[in-house]
Amino acid sequence: MQIETILPGDKIESRVTYLGVGIAVSDGKSSFRRLVQNAVVAINTAKKAGSNSACVYEEAMQEDVHRNNRIRDLLLDTMKNDGFYMLYQPQIDIQKGTVSGTEALVRLKKERISPGLFIPVVEKEGFIRRIGRITTRLVIEQIVRWREAGEPLYPVSINYSSSQLGDAGYVDYLLQLMEKNHIPSLLIKLEFTESVFFNNNHVTQQLLKKRQDADISLSLDDFGTGYSSLKYLTYILVDYLKLDKSIIDSYLTEEAEAEGKDRFIRDIISLAHDLGKKIVLEGVETAWQAKRLKSFGCDIIQGYYYSRPISPEEIATFTVRTED
Ligand code: C2E
Ligand code: CA
Ligand code: CA
Repeated sequence: MQIETILPGDKIESRVTYLGVGIAVSDGKSSFRRLVQNAVVAINTAKKAGSNSACVYEEAMQEDVHRNNRIRDLLLDTMKNDGFYMLYQPQIDIQKGTVSGTEALVRLKKERISPGLFIPVVEKEGFIRRIGRITTRLVIEQIVRWREAGEPLYPVSINYSSSQLGDAGYVDYLLQLMEKNHIPSLLIKLEFTESVFFNNNHVTQQLLKKRQDADISLSLDDFGTGYSSLKYLTYILVDYLKLDKSIIDSYLTEEAEAEGKDRFIRDIISLAHDLGKKIVLEGVETAWQAKRLKSFGCDIIQGYYYSRPISPEEIATFTVRTED
């Protein structure tokens, strides 16, 4: 049984639906009201840790609440004032030495803050449906601008968060934009994390079917960090496995090579190929890593070694560096 803050006179039976326990310990000076507020903060922290969790209030939790509120206000302002823009990170076909596509990554005009920080707030505050559509529209508009300027056109990968599953009309929205702007399906890819596939409900199935019917390719993002079983990899319909940077950091270093651990990366690349999928390695930062990956038969590389995420103008003139 999980119980939220119990106030004097509350009936415990009426409170059993809550998912966490928060405890605020009195220092003898704080008011009752303050103690209850602290307990609520602790409850929310406990809920974030998963159900059946209990948390004792600490000052740092209050700081999290303040940071969250600040980012939420910044996002509200950004949504109101057309304050998002996209950067694009080149993806390199390592075997050919050419650009095979780009990944669209969202930024805020007003403040330099990492999406790694604000996307979780976007999801928590329920803004992801709106922002997911805004970023998609920005990408389509950009492709139109590149085309009108006669620039090279590369497929653009759009990140799709599992929280966007609440937006049942997303794929229709994307397809309408593509149709209206005459964008062929080979110019758009979607990147999902495995949590999208684990929500195996009607909306997910519709989403996957529609994108398949529309011939839009799909990447499984952050591969290797979740719970994917090998069996599940044999039936999910993804075209690319995108190995998470943390795997490279652990297994593709000169020290790891000396211990023979880098074989693990080569084996994952072979596994992806055996399953009929291409593999993307992200977070490649050195010439040594790029060279090793090429020798392992890797398909696509994305990382600071080739380029950080850059502006649309820089994408238009980007050339692949030759190996050092
Ligand atoms: P992600 O989808 O895994 O994107 C890759 C992140 O790794 C990007 O960070 C990219 O700049 C960074 N990265 C790429 N190569 C390297 C490298 O060589 N070294 C290092 N240290 N980092 C590298 P970014 O742009 O800060 O995005 C962070 C996360 O925020 C993304 O992770 C994605 O989950 C989310 N995100 C970004 N843009 C969007 C968006 O438009 N929509 C949604 N739903 N999520 C987004
Ligand atoms: Ca991604
Ligand atoms: Ca990733």
